[in-house]
Amino acid sequence: MIHRTLGQIVLATLLCGGAAATETPFFKGNTHAHSLWSDGNDFPEMVVDYYHRNGYDFAVVSDHNVLARSYRWMSVQEITARQVGTGPGAIAKAEARFGPDWIEWQEVDGERGIVLKTLESFRDQFEAPGKFLIIEAQEISDRSTRGPIHINAINVAELVPFQDEPIEDTVTVMRRLLSAVRKQEKEIGRPILTHLNHPNFRWAVTAEELAEVVEERFFEVYNGHPLINHLGDESRPGNEMIWDIANTLRIAKLSAEPLFGLATDDSHWYHGGEVSPGRGWIQVEADALTPEALIAGLRAGTFYASSGVELSHFSYDAESRVLEFEIRPDGDARFISQLIGTRQNYDQPDAPAGTGIGEVFDRSGEQQVRFVVPENALYARVSITSTEDHPNPSFDFQKKQAWLQPVGWR
Ligand SMILES: [Zn+2]
Ligand SMILES: [Zn+2]
Repeated sequence: MIHRTLGQIVLATLLCGGAAATETPFFKGNTHAHSLWSDGNDFPEMVVDYYHRNGYDFAVVSDHNVLARSYRWMSVQEITARQVGTGPGAIAKAEARFGPDWIEWQEVDGERGIVLKTLESFRDQFEAPGKFLIIEAQEISDRSTRGPIHINAINVAELVPFQDEPIEDTVTVMRRLLSAVRKQEKEIGRPILTHLNHPNFRWAVTAEELAEVVEERFFEVYNGHPLINHLGDESRPGNEMIWDIANTLRIAKLSAEPLFGLATDDSHWYHGGEVSPGRGWIQVEADALTPEALIAGLRAGTFYASSGVELSHFSYDAESRVLEFEIRPDGDARFISQLIGTRQNYDQPDAPAGTGIGEVFDRSGEQQVRFVVPENALYARVSITSTEDHPNPSFDFQKKQAWLQPVGWR
């Protein structure tokens, strides 16, 4: 039996049947955010500052096809034109936060502008061992004949090559990008985590395609951008059903491992407006607050995704197939937890009514929950929904949620 206590920074120790057991801490982070380096509307150091100020343990800046490394000048006019919302803009806020000498002004061809900071130039302002970490990333932004294929590559050392030409099918584009990442990973000798972003953005990636590209082990089950069709539409599945279809096909037909799901912000706007930060994050169990340890935790599936519901612990015992977790209180909120999965005979003519892909095996309205994964389940996962509205919703009637990773499939 694995016990996990969700401490933020401090290693918690608890007595377990008389023997002391050391607990592994959980770290909160967002793996998808944009800055002025691509199409965001704030300086990269202010994007990191948002996560630093708001109780996250790690932040990832993941601009479209650019790393904050080179020389980049931007006119004041362009920076202010990106302002959405009222109140002080990016420049005034950066000066207020870092002082009047922080900004590097530069005039180019008679136009007043600013040199954007590289990530390395401000890393020291925020990072502290075990307390806060910044991880460099690229949102590899490519396209297939059907639409945008975006994959976050986290902990990169150089730009991952992309084509951005609509000439290949979705599966081919995904495979090309993932193999380019694996090549860099080998060359630099450190792990790079990839997650397929927002499959329903312009309906570019279907569940079947996501199933087929088994090299990808992660996708965004929730992305805070309002235009990503989180719930699907009349004829196309939402992100949770995409997860169940893809995982069913992987386990039942492809003898492959299932996808793990992340929740992310995909924030672009930091001064008000609809594409704001703070909507989705992950809590990762890791031995240390380092890119390597966090990626190891993600690859082991010892994390959960959240848009507002937090857990104080969870555990899964593979032998008894018992999944247990405890939801943290949140005011007067009540919670509905669902154990969702697919049975081995889901596609057989004799499968009982009510079974199929993404069947609800069990439900609980308690804060301490114990589920048993059915013996004939291909896998099971937990989705928790609060009665509380999301404070900054990305879709209509959004409630706070959390998603645990699939179990019972090994
Ligand atoms: Zn994207
Ligand atoms: Zn993005």
